[in-house]
Amino acid sequence: MTMAIDALTTLLGAAGLITNPADLSRYAADASVQGPDMPLAVLRPKTTDEASKAVAICAQAGIPMVPQGGRTGLSGGAVPPAGAVVISTERMSGVIAVNTQAMTLTAWAGTPLQVVQEAARAQGLDYPVDIGARGSATIGGTVATNAGGIRVLRHGMTRRHVLGLEIVLPDGAVLSRMRGLVKDNAGYDLCQPFIGSEGTLGLITQVMVQLCPDEPFSALALLSLRDHAAALDCLVAARSRFGDRLSAFEGMWPDYLDAVCTTWSLVPAPFATPGFAVLLELRARADAQLDGFQDWLGELMEAGLVDDGIVARSHDEERRLWALREAVGEVDAQLGPHISFDLSVAVDQLGQFCHACDRKLRGVQAAGQVIKVGHLGDGNVHILVAHDGSDASVTAISRSVYCVLREYNGSVTAEHGVGRSKRDWLTACRDPVEMIALRRQKQIWDPKSLMNPHSILDLRASNTATLIRQPHRSA
Ligand SMILES: Cc1cc2nc3c(=O)[nH]c(=O)nc-3n(C[C@H](O)[C@H](O)[C@H](O)COP(=O)(O)OP(=O)(O)OC[C@H]3O[C@@H](n4cnc5c(N)ncnc54)[C@H](O)[C@@H]3O)c2cc1C
Repeated sequence: MTMAIDALTTLLGAAGLITNPADLSRYAADASVQGPDMPLAVLRPKTTDEASKAVAICAQAGIPMVPQGGRTGLSGGAVPPAGAVVISTERMSGVIAVNTQAMTLTAWAGTPLQVVQEAARAQGLDYPVDIGARGSATIGGTVATNAGGIRVLRHGMTRRHVLGLEIVLPDGAVLSRMRGLVKDNAGYDLCQPFIGSEGTLGLITQVMVQLCPDEPFSALALLSLRDHAAALDCLVAARSRFGDRLSAFEGMWPDYLDAVCTTWSLVPAPFATPGFAVLLELRARADAQLDGFQDWLGELMEAGLVDDGIVARSHDEERRLWALREAVGEVDAQLGPHISFDLSVAVDQLGQFCHACDRKLRGVQAAGQVIKVGHLGDGNVHILVAHDGSDASVTAISRSVYCVLREYNGSVTAEHGVGRSKRDWLTACRDPVEMIALRRQKQIWDPKSLMNPHSILDLRASNTATLIRQPHRSA
């Protein structure tokens, strides 16, 4: 171990290696959990060559490694277990190239998502993956978690946009798939296993993404509807009227509106009568493509599908309307200890599923306040359930919700990833054959289980660490 640290010090220098306990603590947490264990050290390589050599040193010494980006993750995936080093991409940052003809962008893995978006927009292009944590989340982290966000409905998850990756494998070898080929059927796709692998198969060092034309014009409305069923009808109507100009369809249940507007006064209540609320956004290349939006909303109101609505008339008003949805980020401080579920079911089942969860939770003594908000157009709901902070409560609540989820054939994580917080509940949505396939995938790329060994799967169950819960962030 000491020899390995000496070799890492020589390789990375003072700027590239942190061992001082006072500086290590911030690398022991992500946005959802504070781990009880400090990393042995934080490695901060600046180049792929340094990263490759650093990983090889750790692999030879048998030291577990945890890749880290912006630490905005919501599943404990970047939190190091005892005895592990963190490999941070914070010094591997910056856009390397934007190719306007091929419409691609290449960046170091540690580049913040917002920097990637801005570099694309400066060329009249767009990188459409967007999440609330855009200022701190890295492009490498979003690829590692296959991040979703507010525009999945229109553009899909991160996976759809990745054209190439450079990865340092767990033995230090560099796998480079950065040729930018749109079509390449020469055998298995070697990028795909790493997208959404949450740092368990290798360290992503560079990313090439496919950009799309910028859509600078938008129309946004906040609608009040009777219930989720009415919202679903509204989604179908919006799709048939506006096609792929529909870019976001976000849902807020009455319990969410009541909590953020009335109980905690985080944002003003938009409607006199609280109901089910939807944020509906269109985006287009030209203003004229948004014509007819208001008339269409009027028709929905006349037909009795929408009870009330507010249409944004400026960017400021758009920001104010989005603030209602984004207030979920401030809920943590108010709600106290809680579980933040990130669940998905088939889009048309979401309303019934939420009813079933509410019913089930009413019978669970440990469950406190429940609030629901989510990406309605993607069948993804974040259910936040308050509790007394005890492990027994967490287990009772989780078991109840995941039991319902299993009946609906859903997923324990729609977009945040399994990490360490959902690892023990994976079988709620993966059957035994799938579990074997997942373990085989891990064993192929990381036979010694050195890369983020406690995330997604724990091949060495004896090393299980207990996470200390701190107030959860919610997306
Ligand atoms: C306010 C807020 C809003 C959010 N909204 C959304 C949302 O709408 N949709 C959504 O999907 N997520 C959302 N998130 C979650 C989070 O932002 C994403 O998971 C993001 O992709 C994590 O990026 P990161 O760089 O912070 O990664 P980290 O948190 O550092 O790491 C996350 C995981 O990726 C791995 N990893 C990181 N970098 C690399 C790398 N270079 N190579 C290999 N593995 C790596 C880590 O080991 C870990 O398992 C939100 C978070 C916050 C705090």
